[in-house]
Amino acid sequence: MRAVRLHAKWDPRPEFKLGPKDIEGKLTWLGSKVWRYPEVRVEEVPEPRIEKPTEIIIKVKACGICGSDVHMAQTDEEGYILYPGLTGFPVTLGHEFSGVVVEAGPEAINRRTNKRFEIGEPVCAEEMLWCGHCRPCAEGFPNHCENLNELGFNVDGAFAEYVKVDAKYAWSLRELEGVYEGDRLFLAGSLVEPTSVAYNAVIVRGGGIRPGDNVVILGGGPIGLAAVAILKHAGASKVILSEPSEVRRNLAKELGADHVIDPTKENFVEAVLDYTNGLGAKLFLEATGVPQLVWPQIEEVIWRARGINATVAIVARADAKIPLTGEVFQVRRAQIVGSQGHSGHGTFPRVISLMASGMDMTKIISKTVSMEEIPEYIKRLQTDKSLVKVTMLNE
Ligand SMILES: [Zn+2]
Ligand SMILES: [Zn+2]
Repeated sequence: MRAVRLHAKWDPRPEFKLGPKDIEGKLTWLGSKVWRYPEVRVEEVPEPRIEKPTEIIIKVKACGICGSDVHMAQTDEEGYILYPGLTGFPVTLGHEFSGVVVEAGPEAINRRTNKRFEIGEPVCAEEMLWCGHCRPCAEGFPNHCENLNELGFNVDGAFAEYVKVDAKYAWSLRELEGVYEGDRLFLAGSLVEPTSVAYNAVIVRGGGIRPGDNVVILGGGPIGLAAVAILKHAGASKVILSEPSEVRRNLAKELGADHVIDPTKENFVEAVLDYTNGLGAKLFLEATGVPQLVWPQIEEVIWRARGINATVAIVARADAKIPLTGEVFQVRRAQIVGSQGHSGHGTFPRVISLMASGMDMTKIISKTVSMEEIPEYIKRLQTDKSLVKVTMLNE
């Protein structure tokens, strides 16, 4: 079968030391310290085969390009990949996907029925392959699994004709049938994973909101946009999004934002205070990846707003120091939480139910492309910010 594969050279930087979970030449938890000269190409590879009784084979219908796919293929001036996390190459990329079950092991259970997966079941799957038996997993925190593998990062992913996953990571999309016709069901299904990242950030980690609260989202990428939709559905009074790109601001409005701010032209602090009648926001989502730029403004809103008890959830990854003023968080009774992942806490099934009840995330798909076009678009997304989500649609 055909698959989009990433190859890179294992060439650790001088200061890099092999970590306890790293495997020389194959796998590291610190991608950008090791992998050099990435190359993405469509190749012929063997079809996946069921090896364990709990596994299923999925015929891939749709798979979106994630920012991390872009960063795995993008390099600094020395040729090292920008993506800092768990990586094992060569690998088939792609983790925001949906498809149809074509083969199921005898113990591959579908949670929709509590029976073996039916052939033809439409599904999506988690990307984080949590182990289920380490301490964080056993305590209910699979997003922090100590034995994590990641689909499309160190395990073959879904920019392919077929992908194999253990049934415990798969979720039925039956609920979307009748709501999304034809390919749209699979396009919606491919957005469950990134939407779950936003849900985990604003609801699970951020603690959610009470209907009538105000929220501020900084950054209008797929995660920020999904947060807009989720929080509007959660009953936010004012959803305010700050984002330089006009395309993304307009999408935010379509997804339910009450106000959008262009931070390059408007004063973010004054705009938020104005739109909320001086009350400020209960929840802020840092989804820009440049916290050092936006943090002083978040603090100023928290400081000057009349509302107290704000939570700032950090979801964008950034290896940057944040200039935090403790006094602001003390006096205004505010808090900060970090958010990682999308698994556990009932997140995937709730996102699917939200989509079934009309939260249509397919609006963020700018373009559907063929598998052959994926390498080109992974490159194009490095610079073209008019594209939000680009999604492969297989025949
Ligand atoms: Zn992703
Ligand atoms: Zn674990």
